[in-house]
Amino acid sequence: MKITSVDIIRFPRHGNGGQTPVLVRINTDEDIYGYGEAGVSIGDYSLGCIELLRNFARQLIGKDPLDNDVIYQRLIHSFWAVGNGGVILAAISAIDTALWDIKGKYFKVPLYVLLGGKHRDKIRAYASQLQNGWKYEDFFGAPGDLGFLKAACQSAVDEGYDCIKVDFVAKHLDGSRIDAYEGKYHLLPRTLREIDQKLDAVRSVIGEDVELILENHCITGAHTAIQFAEVARDYKPSLLEEAAGPLETHEFEKIREKVDIPLATGERNYTRAGFLPLLERKLLDVIQPDLGNCGGITEGRKIADLAQTYGASVQTHTCNTALSVALALQLEAAIPNFFIHEHHTTNTFSYVREQFVYDYQPANGYFDIPDLPGIGNEPTEEILRQSEIISVK
Ligand code: MG
Repeated sequence: MKITSVDIIRFPRHGNGGQTPVLVRINTDEDIYGYGEAGVSIGDYSLGCIELLRNFARQLIGKDPLDNDVIYQRLIHSFWAVGNGGVILAAISAIDTALWDIKGKYFKVPLYVLLGGKHRDKIRAYASQLQNGWKYEDFFGAPGDLGFLKAACQSAVDEGYDCIKVDFVAKHLDGSRIDAYEGKYHLLPRTLREIDQKLDAVRSVIGEDVELILENHCITGAHTAIQFAEVARDYKPSLLEEAAGPLETHEFEKIREKVDIPLATGERNYTRAGFLPLLERKLLDVIQPDLGNCGGITEGRKIADLAQTYGASVQTHTCNTALSVALALQLEAAIPNFFIHEHHTTNTFSYVREQFVYDYQPANGYFDIPDLPGIGNEPTEEILRQSEIISVK
């Protein structure tokens, strides 16, 4: 089998939802094609990734797609990929994913079979980013008040989720953003009081049996994460995510020493090398690699295995399209140290749900695992018609 062409696909931008997905479709001379997504759909990073994909795609023509590991090693050791970098890794991840999609279709099995089989039949999920509402499509325009937050939590719990995630440090109650330097270096009394009010509101709605994940989005640093955790610990959170930047190992050490909430990070850590400094210092309980930017399924599997060695479990970061959802479910089925699946609020939006052939949504907080050959999803004809597609032949 030979790769004949690569299509780089950019979906049209839609409203204030924040997604500008970039996908690749790798075509072969055997009538099998594979889809992969570059995990850069939130924010305006897609153009840089498209140029990289155009360059990488030229290197793929004529190669055997079943040599996916050989191709991966060539890309990951190319000049500017050395030392990592999110956009480069996102482009490599999209290609790697599409090659695994081809491999699954070639052998007529879902990815989890190629990865060693299913450890579970259902995937537990949590409702993610409720500070921006639940199924509220004006993602970046969400207000910060307590009523809005409580309503979002209530609707997620009503749908059967027994775990939710909220960012308590991004915004004030009036909707204004917390100053970046304040977030990093010293939280003021007003901010801490509002965080306490939000935590109290959320816990009062979800009750004691629903788990709560704290999402800090790297807004905090060592000192402010400790200030935050001193308020948050009374509300019995299950996890504190991105309490400091992905490269700030020394800050994580300081946080670990003072905070007794389990720690997670990973959506901006790339390859095993990006996780090892935190894992070997025993600073993480849960890792959160994004399969669209950590190096794809090839590296994602290795990162999950590395985490297992250090007693850490895995929740993939899943904020991109329904392709990334299907891909995450495949890996999460096939690793022993799975923790929980992130169901991002953007993946509940009607226009997002219409972009792919299969709409995987949890029932009562649990997903079924896609059983189709390959990843188990692909974009609809309609969204491809609306997309900008660059074909490299
Ligand atoms: Mg996150």
